[in-house]
Amino acid sequence: MKDEIVIAEALQHEVRIHAARSTDTVRAMQEAFDSSATCTAALGRVLTVTGLIASDLKQKEEHVRVRIRGGGPIGLIVAEADGDGNVRGYGDNMDLYAARADGHLDVGRVVGNTGTLQVARDMGLKEPFTGTVELASGEIGEDFARYFAISEQTPSVVSVGVLVGTDSSVLAAGGMIIQLLPGASEETISALEKLAASMRPMSEYMQEGYSAEALVTHLFDDAEILAKKPLRWHCGCSKERFSGALLTLKKEDLRDMIEEDGGAEIVCQFCRKKYQFSKEELQEILDAKTDVEHRDRND
Ligand code: ZN
Repeated sequence: MKDEIVIAEALQHEVRIHAARSTDTVRAMQEAFDSSATCTAALGRVLTVTGLIASDLKQKEEHVRVRIRGGGPIGLIVAEADGDGNVRGYGDNMDLYAARADGHLDVGRVVGNTGTLQVARDMGLKEPFTGTVELASGEIGEDFARYFAISEQTPSVVSVGVLVGTDSSVLAAGGMIIQLLPGASEETISALEKLAASMRPMSEYMQEGYSAEALVTHLFDDAEILAKKPLRWHCGCSKERFSGALLTLKKEDLRDMIEEDGGAEIVCQFCRKKYQFSKEELQEILDAKTDVEHRDRND
């Protein structure tokens, strides 16, 4: 079953639902980082919710960028998604393992709960719409629910989960955001509260083989599917992009790379792909930089 996002309305069209199956996406992330079970669950949850938020974007060029700095040992967590269903992300330190006494992964402990969650929606306008809230627990689902309530004034239920096997492989992952639309009746509000209390962990539904669509129609009798979108782990980095980044370095740093290191290896922080730059390639970049500076001076 392929990863997919569905957008739906239910409860007399008074709630909007975004649901994702994200197993393959999170699995590809785990393979890229060889991350510990706890860090896989942490970043996997963030990637899933970031993909869900981005599923409202209309254009590939539009982005959602999430940054979480919770004070825990994972450090900074970054996730990005575009309007085409591509997601990527990283945590500073993806090796730490933490579990609670009951055996469940302790995501809140690696993320921490003393910092902030920031969401930036870049719609191609000059300034992205950015909202920041303090973390609720570092467990990710609650933190995003708090973000929607405070920063976007939208009461929301956020359920997200990643099930990791004993060998750190990803068995199942998924997420759901259920939001009350403006003017929702008391009846709908209490129906949603009841549903939220009775829902099982997201990763359980995914492991049982539910697609995102099947889960939505299982939970809501009157669900109407409005759209289906893809979701995949895809970085989009390239050697050209890193050449551009090298062009912004100081000339003396480029010279050091050429003369002392005899070349450079750049590792993409999002996907851990390695790019090699030979002495000759670095020299070309240095020459291009010198050309640009001459032109600037002559302008
Ligand atoms: Zn990359």
